Amino acid sequence: MTNLNELQKKIGYEYTFDCVQCGYCLPACPTYETMRKETHSPRGRINLVKMAAEGKLNLEEIRDPIDKCLGCRACQVVCPTGVEYGRILEGAKEVLSDNQQLSFSKRVAKNFIFNDLFPNPSRMNLLGNLMWFYQVSGFQNIVQNIKILKIAPLNLGKFEAIMPKITSPNQRQKRKVVVKAEGKKRIKVALFTGCIMDTMFYETNQNTINLLKKSGAEVVIPEKQTCCGALHSHAGDVSVAKNLARKNIEVFEKEEIDYVINNAGGCGAMLKEYDHLFENDPEWSGRAKRFVNQSKDISEVLYELDGLTLTKSVKDIVTYQPSCHLSNVQKVHDEPLKLLNSIPGIRYKEMKDYNGCCGSAGIYNIVNYQESMEILDSKMEKFKPTQATTIVTTNPGCLLQMKMGIKREKLEGRVRVVHLVDLLMEASE
Ligand code: SF4
Ligand code: SF4
Repeated sequence: MTNLNELQKKIGYEYTFDCVQCGYCLPACPTYETMRKETHSPRGRINLVKMAAEGKLNLEEIRDPIDKCLGCRACQVVCPTGVEYGRILEGAKEVLSDNQQLSFSKRVAKNFIFNDLFPNPSRMNLLGNLMWFYQVSGFQNIVQNIKILKIAPLNLGKFEAIMPKITSPNQRQKRKVVVKAEGKKRIKVALFTGCIMDTMFYETNQNTINLLKKSGAEVVIPEKQTCCGALHSHAGDVSVAKNLARKNIEVFEKEEIDYVINNAGGCGAMLKEYDHLFENDPEWSGRAKRFVNQSKDISEVLYELDGLTLTKSVKDIVTYQPSCHLSNVQKVHDEPLKLLNSIPGIRYKEMKDYNGCCGSAGIYNIVNYQESMEILDSKMEKFKPTQATTIVTTNPGCLLQMKMGIKREKLEGRVRVVHLVDLLMEASE
């Protein structure tokens, strides 16, 4: 990219001036905690972006620090001058993506996953069917016994070992597109199902629908919805993220609803920032803002409705690993904890620095495996003193990452990881 003006506009140069270099954000940054390098701290990254925008560094010199950022936004929450780090990061990612020379095979793989798979519900459904067949046919046992996945790229064998149990195609086909409220209808909502959630955590989506129903909400599940675009946006693929956002806005604005509900912190953060994508677009900015105003995490709505009867005792020691995007971007802190503590029988034990990222961060744990595992190991050291038997999360990526942590600590069978929604359902009448 030669035009400095264009680069500065795209990379979020204007936001870098809000940083006064105080360093208050450093202790909050998981990559600074594990890597101990100024270039891999929020302050360092902001400086690098600024220097690149001024033509003092070439883009390749900022690629590694930006690629190694989790995007957890913990720095943004503690920053006394309100630096919008998220905008700086997204801008840098977009510019780096535009200027990246990928090998042919990586380009094909990225195109397939980002453009042909995630945004296509029928292909995601087919993937779910194949994963289910892999698990129930005995093929998974054979693969695990002969340890063939040890030679698979990107540590896929390690992720395969923590794959959740996939719901059968028969069960998945039974879902209704409109679910009536139990008793008097109090509100009408639409569920954003999420591509990964609906493929790998279908039961959690069903439990979400059931809890809403029990709370007096009528739930519609728009069939034409698509992927939220978070992974695309985090990878700097802004034009695809915009296309997906337009499609979702169009689909959900056809419904006469009070809220668009999601149960995945990462997807929810993206949905709640759709307006950032269309700031200079007169046709879409108003529509995006309306969509953002309707978007809610499930915990916000269940807490607001206060309609659940939780009578079944869950006699577990429970700790909570929040999704960074739920806490730091959506600013939803109290509702999950209040719901959790309303479950009869549980003993809640807070982890030290419980708000810190677990190292999952979208596909960070796949593409930056080593760095992610260092962050996870540090998280598990904070988890162990709680002696909890249940870890509650609010995002599929965090759930799988904490399962990985349990496996690494050889705590399988003694500690489980569940989505908040699943634990509420367990305690519900
Ligand atoms: S991002 Fe905020 S907290 Fe961090 S150095 Fe800059 S001003 Fe200070
Ligand atoms: S987003 Fe997270 S990993 Fe990235 S600089 Fe901020 S605190 Fe560090």
